[in-house]
Formats: sequence, structure tokens, C-alpha cells
Amino acid sequence: MTTPPPIHPPQRILMGPGPSDVAPSILAAMAAPTVGHLDPYFLKIMDETQSMLREVFQTKNQLTLAVSGTGSAGMETCVANLVEPGDTVLVCINGVFGGRMKDVAERCGANVQVIERPFGEVFTPQEVEQAVTAHNPKVVGIVHAETSTGALQPLEEISQIVHQYNGLLLVDCVTSLGGLPVEIDAWEIDAAYSGTQKCLSCPPGLAPVTFSDRAVAAIDARKTKVQSWYLDLTMVRNYWNDSSRAYHHTAPINMNFGLHQALREVLEEGLEARFERHRNNHLALRAGLEALEVNYAVAEAHRLPMLNAVLIPDGVDDKAVRGQLLREFGIEIGGGLGPMAGKTWRIGLMGAACTSRNVLVFLAALEKCLTDAGHTCQPGAGVAAANAEYGGANA
Ligand code: PLP
Repeated sequence: MTTPPPIHPPQRILMGPGPSDVAPSILAAMAAPTVGHLDPYFLKIMDETQSMLREVFQTKNQLTLAVSGTGSAGMETCVANLVEPGDTVLVCINGVFGGRMKDVAERCGANVQVIERPFGEVFTPQEVEQAVTAHNPKVVGIVHAETSTGALQPLEEISQIVHQYNGLLLVDCVTSLGGLPVEIDAWEIDAAYSGTQKCLSCPPGLAPVTFSDRAVAAIDARKTKVQSWYLDLTMVRNYWNDSSRAYHHTAPINMNFGLHQALREVLEEGLEARFERHRNNHLALRAGLEALEVNYAVAEAHRLPMLNAVLIPDGVDDKAVRGQLLREFGIEIGGGLGPMAGKTWRIGLMGAACTSRNVLVFLAALEKCLTDAGHTCQPGAGVAAANAEYGGANA
């Protein structure tokens, strides 16, 4: 074969459901010299990463680490370690990722019960309570920020209910961590997983996870081996937490360098400031979209700031507009998933991609694509409405 040319990816603005834009400082950290996975330097990076992850998760949980793998590996780690064959797991499904959690729990041999809401809606505490009293689950799994639908699930009351019936609450915060409050200790979440490529703005490749003392006690009380060798925390934690630093698998060193730098940047910005940035840019985008007569797919009370799911206007071709945005403007947005395919667009404002520059450039580009597609809107209305929302000052 002829050797392919070296990698030379195009410059994109990543405004889809993830990955999001990655700051050059994070890419630079990933290009640092590789050291051994037991090198004292790397062990120090691991310790610092754990401390920073605890801050971002707002927890004191000892068992907090970055799983080697993407967000789905975080999901499998949580489920496989908490669940033994025959355990009852209640999964709340209102989008693709709740559905994935059900599949993972079934593969771990759980007796899986589900409650469902239509895509775009969220669960009430009463709905969860009814299912918990009916099935008495060991674990209740729920998605905080459903990337497939753009819906934000309130968790505090649900957590109280799950604990009232002695269950463990497992939360998917792949898309919310770093962009919205995820208060592991205050909300008494027992296990949570995330991913690096959304609001942490690192490339995909690691899955931050955290486990409460109650969850660790459940893992310690297991009668059977964890079904996955690779994700078995009873071994992996001896590498991350233990003075023995026992070899388990070779950590992806440079990926961990990237996460370390990403977490530094989150904490330097400050969690509150970061949440406010996500909210302000979301509000400006919303004003602009509405001015272009593009409507949200999710009720206002449950909208995610970092993932704006909107209805594709009647008569407009989904793929033609997304293709034009990418070709002419280098902007990536996402199409709908599952039953939302062809009906919605998913516009991300995550981490480093969540800027006033991106909001304004995107609205101008979208207006051009929509106009070309025959959608009528007032020229310049989107950008003007967003600027008015910013009040003249850029976020
Ligand atoms: N959960 C949610 C809410 C997600 O948005 C995603 C990815 O988009 C995942 C889980 C799976 O993560 P990954 O694709 O990194 O494996």
C-alpha cells in the first residue's frame, strides 16, 4: 500500500452533542513526554487528578478516579461494580442513554425494571417513588442531562426517595459535569460517571467516576466477582487509591495529562463562573433561535444550557442544513437520536465551545442555511436578539 499522508484534520467549531472544542493548552498537555504508569511523576498527576475531580464532582468521596475509556465505560464501571446477578435495578428511560443503561444492567445479569417518559420529558419524584415501592430496587439509575433529548432531570427529591427505600442512586452526568451543578455529596448521589469530551472540553477517552461510602460498602459486600475484569474497581482502586499502587492495566498516560489540564482550567475559571457562562450563552442562543423562528423541543423548565435541542422547521432538510453548516462554516451540530432523528437538531454549547463568539457566528451561519433552505426569517434577527440578550457585553 502507499503510505497515507499525515493526519491533518480540518479546523471545526464543535457545537454538537460532543466532543466539544478542546483548548490548545489541553492538547499541549497531551503532547508532553510519556512517562511510565508507575513513574512517581505520573502517580502525583493521578493524586492531583483525583483531588480536582472531587472538587468538580463536589464530593469528598475517596473512591473518585478516571476510568480508562469513554463515558460508556464509566456507565459500565458503575453498573458492573454495584450490581450482582439477580439484583433488581430500576432504570429511568427518557432518552437513548437511559436505554443504554438498561442494556448494560441486563448484560450484568440484573433483574431490570424500567419506567419511561417520552423523549424530551423528565420524571417526577412521584413516578420514581411508585416504581421504587413496587420493585424495591438495589440501584436506581437515571440520567441527569439527556444528551439525546436536551432535557435536564432534577435529582434532589428523587435521591431522598431512593434512600428512604434503602436503594443506591446511580447518576449519568456525562453531559452535565462542568457545565451545570452536579452536587454529589449535597444531593447524596451514590455513584456517578461522566466523560471528558463534553463540558470538561478534553478529547474523549476517560470517564470520571465517583462512589459514596454506601456504594463502596455495597461493592465490598459482593458475593460474586465483578463481571468485567477491566472495569473491576476492587482491583483498579488498588492502583489509584492504595499505597500499594498495584499494576492493573497501563493507564493512558497522555490522556490523563489532558484531563489534568482540563480540570485545572475548570477550577481556575471557578465552578460558579463556569455554570453562569453556560447559562448566559444558552440564553443568548435561545433568544437568537427564537428570533429565527426555530423552536425548542423541550419545555423551558427542563432545558439543558449545554445541549439545545430544537425542532427542525417544517420543510427544511435536516442533513442539507447540517452539511452546509459544516462545509461552508466549519460548524458541527448534531442531528436527532432515536425517535428524534430527522426531527431535531442538537446544538451544543459545551466547555470551550460555549462562547459568545460561537453563538453569534452560529446564528449568522444558521440564518444563511435556513434562508437557502426556503425558511423565512427576518434578516439579522437572530444575531440582533442574541446581542440584545448579552446586553451589549459579550459573555
Ligand atoms: N451518557 C450520556 C448522557 C452521553 O451523552 C453519552 C455520550 O454522548 C454517553 C453516556 C456515552 O459516552 P461515550 O460516547 O463517551 O461512551
